[in-house]
Order: sequence, then C-alpha cells, then structure tokens
Amino acid sequence: MTTVPVDQGSLAEMHCPTCRARQTWSDICRRCKCDMAELHAAWRACQHLRFRCLALLRAGDFPAARAAAHQYVSLVPCDGSLRLLATCQLLDGRWAAALRTGCREPRAERSCDSP
Ligand SMILES: [Zn+2]
Repeated sequence: MTTVPVDQGSLAEMHCPTCRARQTWSDICRRCKCDMAELHAAWRACQHLRFRCLALLRAGDFPAARAAAHQYVSLVPCDGSLRLLATCQLLDGRWAAALRTGCREPRAERSCDSP
C-alpha cells in the first residue's frame, strides 16, 4: 500500500476511493455504500503506529520509536511519516540516516498525519 486517501487537513476525514465523497472514516461510504472496511483498518493501523512512535519518543525510547517510524513509513511513505522517521533517527544519534531520510521523496500522494 502506498497511499491512504486522507485529507491532509483532517485526521477524521477522507475521500471515498470510488465516488470521492468527503466523509468521516467509516467502514461503508455514506454515498455509494462502497465497502471500505479494509481501507479503514489500514488507516487505523497507520494511526496506531504513528501514535506508538510518538509515545515512545515522549518516553525517550528512541530506538523503539525509530523502529515504529520505519514500520509507519513502510505503510505510508508520505512527507509526514518521513519527517517523523528523520526525527527519530536524529534523536537516536543516526545523523547520516536522518539526512538521507530527510532528502527522500515521499511516494504517497497524501498524508494520514495530522496537519
Ligand atoms: Zn463512495
């Protein structure tokens, strides 16, 4: 998976991949009734990894935070996830890796990060 159709301006909204209706996350599209359960589950998994990474950073466990950030980037290689990984690498003392990550181009069109 390389993209998660979440509007960058909001964590709680997305566009249906079928009809493009803007809506809050749910398992079924409000307009076309498309089954979005797996997409919703993928978004929740991404958010879980992101929040886990942030909690580990807050706790000062930089190696574990870096590992969570790597998993997050593997699911959503967007600007936000790459910034988070670079931050984890910096705090973990991996300067060269942080520089390389900071120079990487995101592959996802949109982010599932908060603004
Ligand atoms: Zn729809």
